[in-house]
Amino acid sequence: MTSSRGRSGEFDRIAAFVRHFARAQVPVGVGDDCAVLPGPSRGCELCVTTDSVVEALHFSRAAFSMEDIGHKALAVNLSDLAAMGARPSWFVCALEVPDWVDDVKLAGLARGMSKLARGADIALVGGNMTRAERLAITLTVAGEVPRGKALLRKGARPGDRLYVSGTLGEARAGLVAGAPAALVVRQLRPSPRLELGLLARAFASACVDISDGFAQDLGHICDASGVGVRVNVDALPMSATLRRFAGHRARDFALSGGEDYELILAVPPGRAHAFERAAERSNHRVTCVGEFARSRQRRFVDDRGEAIQPPRGFDHFAP
Ligand SMILES: [Mg+2]
Repeated sequence: MTSSRGRSGEFDRIAAFVRHFARAQVPVGVGDDCAVLPGPSRGCELCVTTDSVVEALHFSRAAFSMEDIGHKALAVNLSDLAAMGARPSWFVCALEVPDWVDDVKLAGLARGMSKLARGADIALVGGNMTRAERLAITLTVAGEVPRGKALLRKGARPGDRLYVSGTLGEARAGLVAGAPAALVVRQLRPSPRLELGLLARAFASACVDISDGFAQDLGHICDASGVGVRVNVDALPMSATLRRFAGHRARDFALSGGEDYELILAVPPGRAHAFERAAERSNHRVTCVGEFARSRQRRFVDDRGEAIQPPRGFDHFAP
């Protein structure tokens, strides 16, 4: 859809850009959480992706410490590796640094990023630094998967159970003035679900991470897999803190708020029980919130069977 300013939405713009290029001869090219490339050894493949966080667009100087910014820049990229079931290996970092970032602030940024990097066992191997009008951090991350085992968006089949990890809506609520610290921290310091992604390789048929909102990112699995879905919105996992703070808006935040960096998974019914047990043993919260369907419809219904219209998810170029 093109707006009055002659600009289409984010996904149309990406498609229009990519059309200029020949299709790459790789296991998985443009269109998933990561590209999948031939690996350094026969038995493995590389998952590669890139993402930016930009001052005033993804973070404000008032709300985020330099450590928070460094953490989040890496976390949003690691979340895409988690969605592929990849084990992080290395990353490169391009920094655009404005004059307000002095040496002390730059060290803070590095500390926030390096602490998460240590925890995720991913190594910084290169990058670039340039002066700019505003702070922007672009990372390219790579992880490894056994050959043919990457979790893709396209594997969901009718009848597969729909699971989501953790709890939803808190990162969005964390942007609201007066939000409790437990919600704000989900906005500032997202936790990529890397361990769950690795575990899910043995069970899931498709996976995506939630950056733009549950309903919108679930749509990517439906599009890629050629299936529909029925979601029980009353089953969406929400914390008591979110319900108390956000009241009647809690469900909309969970459906479409975005930046949860949780995983949406499709699991064949025959493996669902084993998946739930494996997740529980590893202390990962997973909740079954619906089922994929043959009809292409995406139906969101409440406990009483009444249809719900999810608010629109995030689009960088929405008019
Ligand atoms: Mg993603």
